[in-house]
This record gives sequence, structure tokens and C-alpha cells, in this order.
Amino acid sequence: MRFHLMEVTTLYIVSGCLAGLRCRYDGKDSADERVINLVREGRAVPVCPEQFGGLPTPRPSCEIVDGRVLNADGMDVSDNFLRGAEEAFKLVEMLGAEKAILKSRSPSCGISKIYDGTFSGNLVDGDGVFAAMLKKAGIEVENE
Ligand code: SF4
Repeated sequence: MRFHLMEVTTLYIVSGCLAGLRCRYDGKDSADERVINLVREGRAVPVCPEQFGGLPTPRPSCEIVDGRVLNADGMDVSDNFLRGAEEAFKLVEMLGAEKAILKSRSPSCGISKIYDGTFSGNLVDGDGVFAAMLKKAGIEVENE
């Protein structure tokens, strides 16, 4: 009897800005060589929850304040963040992605540490909206 070993490759969901897409609030990217290589190899799919949620690029920076997401102009964009995270999560499910590599400190993608809501560069313990959704679903998450 002959056995065939099937190669099992893990599929990653990654932050679009790490893949070199210019989807950041300031219209720039946060290109990360490891993430770009995973995309090139067909092992990672980039998403940007903030763009999926209908926010423009560039856009005012956003931070989480008392459970709501506010932009630097004081506008509540929580609904955009939630909608964007849900849309990005649809892809996670469709693709059967098991792991994610996400941009650190972002109010969407940050893991364990995010900006504290004072727009002064200080960090607090907490997850971004998309990162929290992935964690809850049991997806293994890491920052770049
Ligand atoms: S939402 Fe995530 S993917 Fe989009 S720019 Fe911010 S950190 Fe990058």
C-alpha cells in the first residue's frame, strides 16, 4: 500500500499595510518583508478593516476611547470599525485562515497594546477591533 503525504500549508490573513498596500490613515504603507513574501508565495491574504468599513484613505487617525472608536476630529467611527472588521472576518472564514499577522498598535489590528485614546502616542493594554474579533474566534494572532 502506498501513502501520499499531502503538504499542509497554513493560510494567513495579514494587515494590508504590512503587505505594502498604502492603506494606512496617512496614505502610506508599513511594508514588512516577511509578510510580503508570504503573500508572494500565495500563503497570505491582505485585508484592511478600516477601508472595508468605508473609511477614506488618507483619513484622520483613530483611537479607542472608553470602548468607542473616535477619530482625531472627535467623530465616532465605531460603526465603520465594526463593519470593516466583520467584512474582513468574512474572508477569514471563506479562506479558512488559521493565523493572522497584524499591524501593531492599530485600533483595528493591534494586539495586546494599543494607543490609549489621548492621541499622544501613549500605549495601554488592549486589542484593536479586528484583532479582538479574530482572537475570540480562536485565530492565532501575532503582530509583525
Ligand atoms: S486597519 Fe489594519 S490593515 Fe488597515 S491600515 Fe490600519 S493597521 Fe493597516
